[in-house]
Amino acid sequence: MKSWASSPPVFDRAPCAAGPANSRGRRYREAPPRGRSEFQRDRDRIIHSTAFRRLEYKTQVFVNHEGDLFRTRLTHSLEVAQIGRSVARNLRLDEDLTEAIALAHDLGHTPFGHTGQDALNACMKPFGGFEHNLQSLRVVDVLERRYGAFDGLNLTFETREGILKHCSLKNARTLGEVGERFIRKQRPSLEAQVANLADEIAYNNHDVDDGLRSGLLTLEALSGVTIFARHMKAALREFPGLNGRRLVHETVRRMIDTLVTDLTGQSTMNIRTHAPASIDDVRRAPPLVAFSEKVLREQQDLKQFLQINLYQHYRVARMSAKARRIVTDLFHAFLSDPRLLPPEFQARAADDTARAIADYVAGMTDRYAFLEHRRLFAIEET
Ligand code: MG
Repeated sequence: MKSWASSPPVFDRAPCAAGPANSRGRRYREAPPRGRSEFQRDRDRIIHSTAFRRLEYKTQVFVNHEGDLFRTRLTHSLEVAQIGRSVARNLRLDEDLTEAIALAHDLGHTPFGHTGQDALNACMKPFGGFEHNLQSLRVVDVLERRYGAFDGLNLTFETREGILKHCSLKNARTLGEVGERFIRKQRPSLEAQVANLADEIAYNNHDVDDGLRSGLLTLEALSGVTIFARHMKAALREFPGLNGRRLVHETVRRMIDTLVTDLTGQSTMNIRTHAPASIDDVRRAPPLVAFSEKVLREQQDLKQFLQINLYQHYRVARMSAKARRIVTDLFHAFLSDPRLLPPEFQARAADDTARAIADYVAGMTDRYAFLEHRRLFAIEET
């Protein structure tokens, strides 16, 4: 009799789904996992990593200390995983792979969200630049040091392929197998495509919610955005007179439902039309996981609204300016005197000083970056 430990659960898998039979495996050979699939093992390794725990104190839009109710990168990643799993299951894809990619997709993010990333990229320009997607891969391939036999988490090719959402051609050429698709202009697995759009659904909706909660956005302004107005109307039809947080939630949950349903429906049609017989067919096909044209347009309108009204709001801009200064100051202080780095990073700096500094700064949480800046620059005693 086969013991439970050697037989991970099986499910009705689409032929184009990722699976144990068509995985390109891990960089370092390991015994197969017991009682869970290879992709479940990837997910578990991600959850236990240091970089994953740090997501709790990294900014999405609002800096961590601005309030306890706003999304952080950790809660964002959990929402991406939740949405991704729903879509993956509906499409009969490997839910565990989608979940692993979703939970890992932001591991390489700097403190202070996109501002931090742009500032670090500017600092790193003379040294090969800084891309947060590439850094997420670097975290799971190199920077996590937990295992006796290898650096990194030794994840499967499929999880690594999904984490590397974008990559410049220059960098792709240095990455071996996982960089090849950017050179050949191919797609990743459907599971990765799902995680990618689940990311978009999650941030558009939670940024609406956080934007309203913070008072930077108003219901009146959002009423000019078709997808929001349509769902708020539906909520009010069902609950006349509803207002405040309940109205926001009833609207946002309807938007998420529409997006997930639309994504599932359109992707089902695309998969049926192209009928990929394997994951390699998927890699050669055009993107198959997609919204319908109408919903895509509505999503883009919402995105543009958020760009202008939230991400460029003067209160967000003030925090961004501060964040840019902190990241830039830290980088240059370490570059001009690498002896200021903690010993572990000093050792790494011997090979490539700028890259070791970028790794150190990118790994910081928002509050750690504030603290480190104070330690290095404050005139008064800290
Ligand atoms: Mg994200």
